[in-house]
Amino acid sequence: MDFQEKIKRWLEDCGALLTGHFLLTSGLHSDKYVEKFRLLEQPELVSATCAEVVKRFEGERIDAVLGLAVGGIVLAYEVARQIGCRYMFAETENGQRVLRRGFEINPNEKILLVEDVVTTGGSVKVTLDLALSKGAEIVGVAVLIDRGEKPLQLPVRTEVLLRLPLQTFQPESCPLCLQGIPIERRGSKR
Ligand SMILES: [Zn+2]
Repeated sequence: MDFQEKIKRWLEDCGALLTGHFLLTSGLHSDKYVEKFRLLEQPELVSATCAEVVKRFEGERIDAVLGLAVGGIVLAYEVARQIGCRYMFAETENGQRVLRRGFEINPNEKILLVEDVVTTGGSVKVTLDLALSKGAEIVGVAVLIDRGEKPLQLPVRTEVLLRLPLQTFQPESCPLCLQGIPIERRGSKR
């Protein structure tokens, strides 16, 4: 079993892959939803997932791991713990991705970005720009699940552990709405 199948099995087993009728943060509807925290709440699965990230970047010098709040914090911490380096996280403040809490990226530091789930990759791109603006050297980006319709494209090395394209519908042409199935709001409110 390759890692992609393994992680999919873990997500299914821990109840992270939901089927129903969901209103996504983007405003689109979907019949599937990934509740990543079913995986992230299990330290042994987080540890095994992060071991795969560490393996893929083996041999690279990494000074710090940068996670994207909220889910990426858990992953960044564990990846950094296994590598034996520093970790920090970028969070959203007034619509901007920022480093708070005294976190600093020093010029020429080698940084690995870690994110849990991406759809369009917008947050990752903004955080990448943030790190580059501080003079970081980006070793790469590791993503747990890419659920975009098209694979995530970044100008740096990108390691996606699981590709899981989700079909989305415009509210006005959603087949689930037409069937009168009640909708459930999921995801972070912005
Ligand atoms: Zn709908």
